[in-house]
Amino acid sequence: METPKELKVDSLTDVDRLITKHTLAHYTETGNGPVCKNCGALVLFVHAYISVHTTLFSNCAGSGSVKQIDMPYCPNCEITPSDRGCIHLDDLV
Ligand SMILES: [Zn+2]
Repeated sequence: METPKELKVDSLTDVDRLITKHTLAHYTETGNGPVCKNCGALVLFVHAYISVHTTLFSNCAGSGSVKQIDMPYCPNCEITPSDRGCIHLDDLV
């Protein structure tokens, strides 16, 4: 799954929800961890740093807070997610 970049969300939990949705749609949970439904490869993770920005500004600006997320991806079917991204929140909490 690609790391969110300039993704507009209502709350930080939206990101977790998107990842869960992607995981359920594309991966199967096994005793050894999730595997790709398409090719059966073990799903890998990129430890990504997601900057939290605000939609109050049109460019990427915000509180400076960073959320760390493990982005899942299949090494065969998906591009390697970026280790940097950002989300844009209406309200910074
Ligand atoms: Zn795959």
